Amino acid sequence: MSRIGTGWDIHKLVPGRDLVLGGVKIESPKGCLGHSDGDALIHAVIDAILGACSMGDIGTLFPDTDPQYKGISSTVLLSQVMDSVREKGFRIVNVDTTVILQSPKMGPYKDEIRSRMAKLLGVGEDCFCVKAKTAEHMLGELGTGDAVVCQAVCLID
Ligand code: MG
Repeated sequence: MSRIGTGWDIHKLVPGRDLVLGGVKIESPKGCLGHSDGDALIHAVIDAILGACSMGDIGTLFPDTDPQYKGISSTVLLSQVMDSVREKGFRIVNVDTTVILQSPKMGPYKDEIRSRMAKLLGVGEDCFCVKAKTAEHMLGELGTGDAVVCQAVCLID
């Protein structure tokens, strides 16, 4: 049986933090505010996977009040989720994502993100896609470059 899940995440962008998306550091004067490293792309992907498997959501599994997750790389969280997913006998078919970020441009980082995420998810590079859009200077903080939104959809069997 095939199953589908969606994920969505938003993080504020502030000076003095690294911008990490899909496990890849992106050169930027601002980065994601968050309890973990704030990797909004991985957070959206985790929620899409959990949704497809009916296994809850990222906030329940990794509460932002838990000190053990402070500053943690979201790649570690994704690896833990993948372990549980495999234990239940699920396999990722493909994951498609969209990053909405006013600046910087994501183009130069897409290949590296795809390769990193495909490895973490245990799929071929043709089974993970990252697309990027700006907010066309609209939608408040998104359009002024003070926030990032990521969306993900995941198919499993
Ligand atoms: Mg998040």
